[in-house]
Amino acid sequence: MNYQSIILPHIWNLKPYSSARDEFKGKEGIFLDANENPLGSPLPVNWNRYPDPMQWDIKHELADIKHIPVEQIFIGNGSDEAIDLIMRMTCAGQENSIILCPPTYGMYEVSASINHVKIISVPLTKEYQLNVSQILSSVRADTRIIFICSPNNPTGNKINRTDIYKIIDSFQQGFVLIDEAYIDFSDEPSFIHELDKYPNVIVMQTLSKAYGLASLRLGMAFANPQIIQILNKIKPPYNISGATQALVLEALKNREFLFNSLQQINHAKNTLISKLEAMPQVVKVYPSQANFILVKLERAQELFNYLISQKVITRSRTNVALCEDSIRITVGLPEENQILIQKMQEFYS
Ligand SMILES: *Cc1c(COP(=O)(O)O)cnc(C)c1O
Repeated sequence: MNYQSIILPHIWNLKPYSSARDEFKGKEGIFLDANENPLGSPLPVNWNRYPDPMQWDIKHELADIKHIPVEQIFIGNGSDEAIDLIMRMTCAGQENSIILCPPTYGMYEVSASINHVKIISVPLTKEYQLNVSQILSSVRADTRIIFICSPNNPTGNKINRTDIYKIIDSFQQGFVLIDEAYIDFSDEPSFIHELDKYPNVIVMQTLSKAYGLASLRLGMAFANPQIIQILNKIKPPYNISGATQALVLEALKNREFLFNSLQQINHAKNTLISKLEAMPQVVKVYPSQANFILVKLERAQELFNYLISQKVITRSRTNVALCEDSIRITVGLPEENQILIQKMQEFYS
């Protein structure tokens, strides 16, 4: 694949910032290069030294967990940073366009707008699947990214794999960005194992959901090593703080937490679904491959407001096209879900 025709010339030719620590890799030494405070920090743990700009320790741990080479891993300050960098790598404002398939994750549109990139919107079908023929006929010469979110937020379903393959095979003038933020909850295999076959695919995942680390801000992009190198070149040098790196490293060594979380959340989800389905005012509980459920119900916006007044916070999607009369409910603890059901019954009685 000829990446040079996809990557903007000024990015392709960019000479990256060379940080003080680039010249010496050792951990022991007298460090007089980075203008840090040699006395330490006003904290029990010292954070006075700049962190590893390439986050190697975390990458090695992730490579082991996900069974892929470290060279295929980029780490961002949340997936949101990866989305923004991929956009800036390929799109020169209004001269380029991206394709979005709403209803989907809102950050794609926001990031495109911030970067002044043209948005081509090809809504999902009524079944929340890709409209493949319309996506492909909407591609223009300047289109650089097609965003696919699977499992999709806010609808919760997975996108048909054969449709994704059709898009990947047909779109060679840019990247197919597959957002797998909820892949750990899904029975679908990740696309990260197909990167060697598809050099035009970038996969995004995050530690914010199943891994329980949203506050630490760590998102991942997986792609061909050449693309990873370009992302590393354009990211802010120290985009992942030392505190985050230390805590994430510790968290990733606890492999049981993820396993237990998935079991408990899936169990709670099934209970919640059956309770919702038993309510006559619930019109539809959409199938979910994630840790949230989209529910279509009577008087949705009123219910949402009532729940807020009771300090039960869900996400109203009533103003989102194709999600009319629907709210998105994150699966909580069993007792939290029980209170939600109770408050819903109160509202409807
Ligand atoms: C939550 C979410 C993310 C995660 O974003 P972070 O910046 O990593 O917290 C990414 N994509 C989708 C679709 C999400 O729902």
